Amino acid sequence: MTPFEQITQHIILASNALGLSDEQKNKLQTPYEIHQKTLPVTLAGKEEQLSAYRVQFNNARGPYKGGIRFHPDADLDEVKALAAAMAVKCAVVGIPLGGAKGGVAFDPKTYTGTEVEAVARAYAQAMSEHIGVDQDIPAPDVYTNPQIMSWMLDAYEKKVGKSEPGVITGKPIALGGSLGRDTATAQGGVYVLKEFVAHNNLDISATTVAVQGFGNAGATAAKLLHDAGYTVVAVSDSQGTLYNPQGIDPIAVEKAKNEHKSVTGLYCEGGVCDLEAMENDGAQVLGVDAVLTLTCDVLVPAALDNVITAKNASEVQAKIILELANNPVTPEADAVLYNNGVTVLPDVLVNAGGVTVSYFEWVQNRQQYYWELSEVQDKLKKQMVSSYHTLRDLVQTKNISYREAAYLVGIGRIFEAMRLKGHFTTQQ
Ligand code: NAD
Repeated sequence: MTPFEQITQHIILASNALGLSDEQKNKLQTPYEIHQKTLPVTLAGKEEQLSAYRVQFNNARGPYKGGIRFHPDADLDEVKALAAAMAVKCAVVGIPLGGAKGGVAFDPKTYTGTEVEAVARAYAQAMSEHIGVDQDIPAPDVYTNPQIMSWMLDAYEKKVGKSEPGVITGKPIALGGSLGRDTATAQGGVYVLKEFVAHNNLDISATTVAVQGFGNAGATAAKLLHDAGYTVVAVSDSQGTLYNPQGIDPIAVEKAKNEHKSVTGLYCEGGVCDLEAMENDGAQVLGVDAVLTLTCDVLVPAALDNVITAKNASEVQAKIILELANNPVTPEADAVLYNNGVTVLPDVLVNAGGVTVSYFEWVQNRQQYYWELSEVQDKLKKQMVSSYHTLRDLVQTKNISYREAAYLVGIGRIFEAMRLKGHFTTQQ
């Protein structure tokens, strides 16, 4: 199944449970607008034509909202899937925004800052008639960051001839970014886990966690979980897994990764590991995918999509999966995990802290009045905790998974907005 086929399956299941008509189902799974452009840019001295996408999935609940991804594998199917997930996510956490996503098919890691800037400006100019503070508000995603948002903002403002900081979120604080946006995705997930742990009478100090990915989402989550009293027993990145059943200090790992480019740098450099230090500490360096099937209570996929599949789902030993990454578990794996009694706390709730604080950033830009960090964090906590409780009630009363509950709530809210606006010919 392609990424868009996967999310369509979730939307159809929820639509069926809500008893919707064929017309309603079709409209709920069809993007409202798809914009495809070619960006002419000079890269490494060569004229290139990059494929660029903006999919505006649904704006029944508010302006379109979603990040822009720079990645060699970005294609229309993936951008459509991520745009649909954004619409569901905003609905699940009850923020008044729709769903969109953008992408440019290129690898920014292989080009200079000046070249990446040229791509960012070309994208904002090419899409300028489709984005806007009340229309569609982009943000960073994989391999894009606050600096790239700054260039896009500048290109957009030059094109429209006025200051409009609220047209893009995830900006640096100096340009109207929100305090707390950098840690919001992981923080939101940690709030959700805390509620789940409390409801299930688990003891945080006896709960072990393995985190896949040590970037913005994963490293921040590892640090917050460690600070909250969980024992982080494994962390990983694209180079390998660091495992220590007695616990790992994520701050030390971050320092090692900054110096040696990998979490395994705590003990290893250039493939040579300090075996004595590892033995003394009780640590092991394992393969990249080992993190997924280690002994632990909570597994936090925070790197890539489709990492838990029908092939490895039955080997997962964790009892809870906290989906910080988008789409890390395939629908086939979901079924295996559910049957094995593994609770999957789904991406459309767990990683929604990022878009929630992006929404706060947009509100602050529009008010031209900026909040303190404690206010941002209090509001984020309230939003995440109450959204979790809504899903938990459904899980208990309907005996369904958290993902099914999330899609039931998200699709139900989008449907209701579309119905009220008269987007269907058949009314219920
Ligand atoms: P990032 O680029 O900052 O970090 C990605 C990390 O994954 C890096 O440490 C990288 O080394 C690691 N990685 C790459 N390949 C790997 C592999 N095979 N095994 C283990 N680790 C691997 O990205 P991010 O912003 O942290 O995003 C991670 C995930 O979280 C993505 O799915 C993204 O869509 C999702 N997400 C992020 C945010 C956010 O605000 N950052 C919001 C919502 C969802």
